[in-house]
Amino acid sequence: MMRTGTGCIDRPSPNHGPRPEGVGVELLILHYTGMPTAESALSRLCDPAAQVSAHYTVDEDGAVHAHVPEDRRAWHAGLSSWRGRADVNSRSIGIEIVNPGHEFGYRPFPAVQMAAVADLCLDIMGRHGIAPADVLGHSDIAPARKEDPGELFDWPGLAARGIGLWPEPTPADDLADDSADCAEDVAALLGRYGYDTAESRALLSFQRHFHPERLTGEPDPETLRRLRALLRMTGR
Ligand SMILES: [Zn+2]
Repeated sequence: MMRTGTGCIDRPSPNHGPRPEGVGVELLILHYTGMPTAESALSRLCDPAAQVSAHYTVDEDGAVHAHVPEDRRAWHAGLSSWRGRADVNSRSIGIEIVNPGHEFGYRPFPAVQMAAVADLCLDIMGRHGIAPADVLGHSDIAPARKEDPGELFDWPGLAARGIGLWPEPTPADDLADDSADCAEDVAALLGRYGYDTAESRALLSFQRHFHPERLTGEPDPETLRRLRALLRMTGR
């Protein structure tokens, strides 16, 4: 169903299909639009020729546009994988968040926009029983292709409202020798958390989400501590 309420603007997209039988909504995927303007993004998401869509778009002023009913499969994730399972579109809801993105002038997400994103996420999570850990960025599920919503996205602020997880390392998450150069272990840990480690950029995607001060794509002690903290917090 469409979300109802003030500030929600109906802008239907024809780009959707049925969810497979017996498949429920388990993941909430956050994107940035990555287009020069909000209108160019909204037009594309509703253009049958583009073959892309999302359930919602949140503009920079906080306005929420509804494109696809939540019980339908929108086309936002593309080739993607999480916790060993592909076809994320079938079991997710997708939210586009207006921002020009890395290609057209990446900039901070305004507070009023993030507040609207948080309200929408909580609404969706409550109705579908989506756990905080199952709110992810597009770059988490498609590391080789995607950078959105990117390192300027306020994941800690969302986590403070129960949306997504933010790692809180304890001494238990420290490495035995702090050398942090064991790339094989890092891949194993990333895979355990959910990343497709066949993708060489999985560690970079992890940093973009959980350690945005350090976009090196290389393992370092703090990146590993945060990864270990998330594994402990989720019991994975
Ligand atoms: Zn995306």
